[in-house]
Amino acid sequence: MLAPMNSLLLTGGRVVDPANHFDSPADVLIVDGKISAVGKNLPAPEGIERFDAGGKIVCPGLIDLHVHLREPGQTAKENLATGTAAAARGGFTSVVCMPNTAPAIDTAGTVALIRERATREGVVNVFVTGAITKNIAGEELAPIGGLKRAGIVAITDDGHCIQNHELMRHACQYAKMFDLPVMDHCQDYSLVTDGVMHEGYWSTVLGLRGWPAAGEEVIVARNILLAELTGAKIHCQHLSAAGSVALLREAKKRGVPISGEACPHHFVLTDAAVAGSEKFWNADGKGLAKFQSGTGFQPVSDMQDACPTWPKYDTNFKMNPPLRSARDREAVLEGLADGAIEILCSDHAPHCDYEKEVEFDYAPFGITGLETELALSLMQLVHTKRLSLADLIAKFTVNPARLLNLNKGTLSAGADADVTVFDPDFEWVFRVEDSASKSKNSPFNGWKLKGRAVATIVAGKTVWSEKSELVAA
Ligand SMILES: [Zn+2]
Repeated sequence: MLAPMNSLLLTGGRVVDPANHFDSPADVLIVDGKISAVGKNLPAPEGIERFDAGGKIVCPGLIDLHVHLREPGQTAKENLATGTAAAARGGFTSVVCMPNTAPAIDTAGTVALIRERATREGVVNVFVTGAITKNIAGEELAPIGGLKRAGIVAITDDGHCIQNHELMRHACQYAKMFDLPVMDHCQDYSLVTDGVMHEGYWSTVLGLRGWPAAGEEVIVARNILLAELTGAKIHCQHLSAAGSVALLREAKKRGVPISGEACPHHFVLTDAAVAGSEKFWNADGKGLAKFQSGTGFQPVSDMQDACPTWPKYDTNFKMNPPLRSARDREAVLEGLADGAIEILCSDHAPHCDYEKEVEFDYAPFGITGLETELALSLMQLVHTKRLSLADLIAKFTVNPARLLNLNKGTLSAGADADVTVFDPDFEWVFRVEDSASKSKNSPFNGWKLKGRAVATIVAGKTVWSEKSELVAA
């Protein structure tokens, strides 16, 4: 008898499915690309492939709702094949791509093009967002109804921020009419001007133009007011500032349809990292240095030798919004712990070497992140006991699925068999040269990480596994 297609029995893992409040040792049976059953000692069809998940976590496929795949038009940085390969390697079965491409994804035709190409070239699911305004110029609304019919899951001008509040109000009204969330990159241009790093002690020491936290917070406040006024769901992207977290927490208590996301770089690093590794490990990175050096509680001077190094003004530490103070980092971690921020994502933003290898002022903002985000999130949230494993998984699965109305993020019977298997305790070193992304602009090159994907399964098909990579190597 032929083995059933896209079918698999995962045995012996700890299954964590926050959507169903399930956390227990169990098997997962996949038949024809769908979840058939979750339970103990499941009767499996004859000849089915088996996967031993003993000692591992088995959860719904992880979703990253903030990824730049750079298609169309910027394929020197990344393309659908390489971006989705990096996602699979990081344990992600679904990604949501941003529309700030060349041209921007602001017409139904471009949405159709990306969706069609993604089914051919992508190894994981790709969901597309559409621009809020034509060419992301912040002046005139894009055809939101047509974009919705073409299959977008949200609208966003990411990379840019609509400054005209009346235009943003209209965008929210349309979004509500079409049942689309509005995802916003929160940046007030008059406060931020041409700031390149967080405005604070280190920007003064380094002589770089500052991007004040208030430049983000003022737009988060605007979005809360507009969500309240229009009833539209507004989602604040890549939150970096303590004030943003406090505003969000307070608004959610009042039932405002507002939400937020955080990226690992903002809750691992601080602005001290722009001054170089020595300054970082000596100050805000002290707690992390112990793990990096593997020396436990040694004097910091000894630890530093064993920690990853980078020079000051390293452009892999330049992103938008910028790395902030230790106080902001703590506030983002607290927001993740108490639920003020309910979604984790990478803001994976690949750039070519030649673009990043320039003076700090001139380098583009952004870093890659798909292959490091699971480990960094585990390290800062679960291994430090700020968050349970189930709550962390929820922020990568059911929470983004709910925001975007995706039929994903659960292991319920009948659901698409998107499954991630990972080892939360596996220690490894991230090397950019091993990355599946076309670009290598990560600040975490050479970092010791704890936690790693073991297998990434999309619709019952194993699209990446640790084993296949070892064989290929
Ligand atoms: Zn952004």
